[in-house]
Amino acid sequence: PVLPATYRRVMLKISGEALMGDQGYGLHPPTVARIAAEVKSVHDLGVEICMVIGGGNVFRGLQGSAQGMERTTADYMGMLATVMNALAMQSALEALDIHTRVISAIRMDEVAEPYIRRRAVRHLEKKRVCIFAAGTGNPYFTTDTAATLRASEMACEAIFKGTKVDGVYDKDPQKHDDAKHYERITYDEVLQQHLGVMDASAIALARENHLPIIVFSLDEPGGFCGILRGEGTYTRVS
Ligand code: UDP
Repeated sequence: PVLPATYRRVMLKISGEALMGDQGYGLHPPTVARIAAEVKSVHDLGVEICMVIGGGNVFRGLQGSAQGMERTTADYMGMLATVMNALAMQSALEALDIHTRVISAIRMDEVAEPYIRRRAVRHLEKKRVCIFAAGTGNPYFTTDTAATLRASEMACEAIFKGTKVDGVYDKDPQKHDDAKHYERITYDEVLQQHLGVMDASAIALARENHLPIIVFSLDEPGGFCGILRGEGTYTRVS
């Protein structure tokens, strides 16, 4: 296996769409609970866990602006969508007795903690799961970039990107039977071949900070826990 058997601290990035189940929109509580259980299995190993959840199940800035909305306003709406997802995940994790903090890049003190790096680090040391919400707090970015930024700030050893497919392929495996799966690939190859692992700014930031990205499927039989142990199918970008 190309993954070390144990990690001390990791970032789990999931898209908002991963939380909507088969509904096509919004939150599907049983799906949120299933992902929370995956997180718990890794938390039980003593691994410190950071999370970033996207907002695409509710709102994406680009979609809003394509319909005539001002781009920055649409992006703030997208960031607010990630806060709702983060709260849903917090609720599901706390139902499993996992202490969780939602930490927002946009201040909303009644709802979530403000982002203060040292405070977040302290939460992690106390084995609280930290969900970083509201992206980077800036329009024109994505939650992939937010995940890479927070993973760098929190000194995570890797970013685990949970998706619908079990890694990176040279073309869409859901459309092409002959799509080739990569076990390992470099940041530069991802950028040069325009592989849709993460957006280019997130890949560039990960490359600069030597943060490996492990792309795996949230439906992998062995789960997040198995992937962390180097089992199952995934792609390592490094
Ligand atoms: N967003 C933003 N700045 C950030 C992170 C997110 O403006 O730092 C907005 C952007 O409009 C984006 C939306 O929030 O479309 C939802 O995030 P994303 O598309 O990354 O969610 P995902 O595709 O992972 O569900």
